[in-house]
Amino acid sequence: METENRQFMHGLFLHELEAWIVHAGEKAFRAKQVWQWLYQHQVRDWEAMSNLPLALRQRMEASFILRPLEKMEVQESDTGTRKLLCRLVDGELIEEVLIPAPDRRTVCVSSQVGCMFGCAFCASGQLGVKRNLKAGEIVGEVLAAEREYGDRITNVVFMGIGEPFDNYDEVMRAVRILNDPDGYCLGARRITISTCGVVPGIQRLENEGLQVELSVSLHAPTNTIRDTLMPVNVSWSLDELLATCRRYTERTKRIITFEYTLIRDVNDTEQDCADLVRLLSDFPCRVNLIPLSEIEEYEGRTSHRETVEKFIRRLEKAGINTTVRWSKGTDVNAACGQLRSRSMGRSLR
Ligand code: SAH
Repeated sequence: METENRQFMHGLFLHELEAWIVHAGEKAFRAKQVWQWLYQHQVRDWEAMSNLPLALRQRMEASFILRPLEKMEVQESDTGTRKLLCRLVDGELIEEVLIPAPDRRTVCVSSQVGCMFGCAFCASGQLGVKRNLKAGEIVGEVLAAEREYGDRITNVVFMGIGEPFDNYDEVMRAVRILNDPDGYCLGARRITISTCGVVPGIQRLENEGLQVELSVSLHAPTNTIRDTLMPVNVSWSLDELLATCRRYTERTKRIITFEYTLIRDVNDTEQDCADLVRLLSDFPCRVNLIPLSEIEEYEGRTSHRETVEKFIRRLEKAGINTTVRWSKGTDVNAACGQLRSRSMGRSLR
């Protein structure tokens, strides 16, 4: 494919673009002009960069991809949630979800084509992982979401397809470009990374000096239950995961949110609730309960509303700040765990 050797324009740091431009025989200040076109005007054509010399535009066009993805399809849910199906330059398809609220425009982005972690209840990992997304593609997801909203994105959550810490470098690169005041200029605290429990990723994040939010998918209060739901628990057990989380909080002073998907009779019994309270009670953290979004490939059922409420009461009583994420977008399969890489296993080209 003609585009294969070109890099993604949105994956370069400003200083890297500067170095490239100087190497191309132009003045360094041109890089900032390019970034203004990329992140303020968000142009999708080289010709639009009208204050740049033609020769530079042409050289950039020969070396860089300016459109990392194309919107293929939009599905809008009754709740206002919108799911975007996007085609990457190599033909792979990913999904992202726009979640509007009165005071926010959130986008839930994918970090990989597929996922290798294979959590029992999640559709994204059913076919394994095909490839990592590049930073430029992740930034491209945010820009595509802004085009769809017609307004700036206020929050980015890495809760789409893939495990962000299995693609650590490109995810962090995207985070820094989104966060850069000359780039997308989104506050780090408005960016949430969610991990299924990849311990080395949490350890690395601890040293980044970035104020991003960290969510950890816990989903079970014991190794016995977690082993059956999340194969990742075999590599990094609950004890190791929690010790790492504690250290992360001690060192960064940042509060972790634990995600807990509630599955009827699997992890939502009285005993499970008591175990969860015991596990987290002496640790400053938040819990986000997610009643299971049911998927075809998994026989588990979502918890009864009373059970969810009981969990909230017990956790709150133990002093643990608890929220519930009631499913949004289930009617268009845009809820947690329902996203998949639709091009996998069949070719669309
Ligand atoms: N790989 C990352 C991010 C992707 S999933 C992670 O595991 O954290 C975002 C969240 O949705 C995770 O907490 C995930 O466990 C949860 N999730 C996955 N499938 C779900 C389902 N069917 N119902 C409810 N939550 C689900």
